[in-house]
Amino acid sequence: MLKILRRQKSGYVLSLVLCSIGLTSLFVAVWKTWPEVSSADNPLSTFWTLLWREQLSLVPNVEFKLSYLIILGTAMFASGIIVLALSRQWFHLPTGEIVLYQCPFCRKQWRGHRDHKLANCPHCRKQTYPAMVEK
Ligand SMILES: [Zn+2]
Repeated sequence: MLKILRRQKSGYVLSLVLCSIGLTSLFVAVWKTWPEVSSADNPLSTFWTLLWREQLSLVPNVEFKLSYLIILGTAMFASGIIVLALSRQWFHLPTGEIVLYQCPFCRKQWRGHRDHKLANCPHCRKQTYPAMVEK
């Protein structure tokens, strides 16, 4: 069996975009809270409180909490990873023995898998039971 890794370029691009949006959102959330969190006695609980208290206004008149940014960022990042995983697929190809065949009609030879009993001659396009010339 031959293993082939197929990568989908569009999947990679999409996952890259999702991951960077996710990481940027997380980074912005941490960066916004960092001045208070770094000077707090209990950074984790301070961070948690800030997430629900701090409002972000990225678009005028539309405010949303920092916690939404964290949820959005995590979701984006997770989907990016999932897309990345889905765009990588392993294929198993049966690798039979390659043998040399000869067409009984046009006498031309070609190489093919041993398991092909009935084959189309690649030269004259006739369907035939080619003779095995050599292994
Ligand atoms: Zn032929």
